[in-house]
Amino acid sequence: MSCIFCKIAAGELGTKFIYESDDIVAFRDLNPQAPQHILIIPREHIEKVSDLQEKHLNIAGKLLLAAQKIAQKENLAEDGFRLVINNGKNAGQEVMHIHMHLLGGRKMNWPPG
Ligand code: 5GP
Ligand code: ZN
Repeated sequence: MSCIFCKIAAGELGTKFIYESDDIVAFRDLNPQAPQHILIIPREHIEKVSDLQEKHLNIAGKLLLAAQKIAQKENLAEDGFRLVINNGKNAGQEVMHIHMHLLGGRKMNWPPG
């Protein structure tokens, strides 16, 4: 298993989870781009949004609901937060295990770079 996020999800790197369930784990980004920068991933290895299939419907929904719960728990819900999923080369996806960025704690710019 060479995927770094699979290793993190399996607990092999001792990463502290902010949230975990049977299907999903969330942890702080190594290189935060906001005061709060959390990555939410499925335990299952799926490379990117483009690879999602009908069978992933449940997991895809759980990613979003996990983000909602984490934002609430981290006191980001009231002021707002941003969710980002980079998909592929043009979006700058670096880790090929699908992940949702949850960014908060500052005002975000639009359009994104
Ligand atoms: P991407 O550009 O693929 O959407 O985002 C990958 C994110 O994963 C980056 O923000 C990067 O800082 C983060 N990251 C990469 N490797 C690790 C790691 O080993 N641990 C943690 N916590 N974050 C990582
Ligand atoms: Zn993986």
